[in-house]
Amino acid sequence: MSDKLILTCAITGAETTREQQPALPITPEEIAIGAFEAYEAGASILHLHVRKDNGTPTQDKAVFKKAIDLVRSKCDMVIEVTTGGAVGMTPEERLQPVTLKPEMASLDCGTVNFGDEYIINTLPIMREFAAAMKEYSVRPTLECFDLGHVYASKMLIKEGLLEAPYHYGLVLNVPGAARYEVDVLEFFVRKLPEGAYWTAMGIGGKANLDAIYGALALGGNVRVGFEDNIYYSRGRLAKNNAELVERAARIAKDCGREIARPDDVRAMFKLRKA
Ligand code: ZN
Repeated sequence: MSDKLILTCAITGAETTREQQPALPITPEEIAIGAFEAYEAGASILHLHVRKDNGTPTQDKAVFKKAIDLVRSKCDMVIEVTTGGAVGMTPEERLQPVTLKPEMASLDCGTVNFGDEYIINTLPIMREFAAAMKEYSVRPTLECFDLGHVYASKMLIKEGLLEAPYHYGLVLNVPGAARYEVDVLEFFVRKLPEGAYWTAMGIGGKANLDAIYGALALGGNVRVGFEDNIYYSRGRLAKNNAELVERAARIAKDCGREIARPDDVRAMFKLRKA
């Protein structure tokens, strides 16, 4: 297994607003610029959500296509579309961008509290999403917010709906789900299938930074970006997504980890030849 560290940048998300973070990319044009800056800073996977021009989240295929085409015109980042979408969306709505055959897509592995809201992912919904990703040869990132989600993913593996190599996104610190604590991360990692890749996704400023060190200590990969955290340090907003990527890359290099480039990710995750 390659020791290179994969940096994912989740540059927009569904919940972060311009009021909270003035540098949030919203339109496909802004997303393409933000993605390119993150790529230059060391990110090799773009975790992509899109918005309507008024800033509300959408799973509209046409908007995804426009954003993907614009990113593609600037760099060769691996694009991972969201199928988590936003709170209140139907499964059919959420699944739409997978039909564009991106290289990767997120697959939520269970129902989760999202503060006072929640996102529903029953086993039948997960099976439907996993089957669609298999049909379109899209590699899922298995997002787990709680320990039961890891076990749910193993049911899908057993049923033949998921194929190795597996990539897990361990999303910690969503309000109402598992907290980011280093022993929680370590326990999750120990319960993953043999040889699985994983990326730590700490939500909120402190958890996001702590999760970088946790991932380095435990041999994982890192996600940063405005979806997960808008701050550079306590009370100081990040200038842009790239500033967060740059810091993560610097920390990883200081710890002796080389940074993966998009073609490294394609080889490690055995992505479909485009
Ligand atoms: Zn997302």
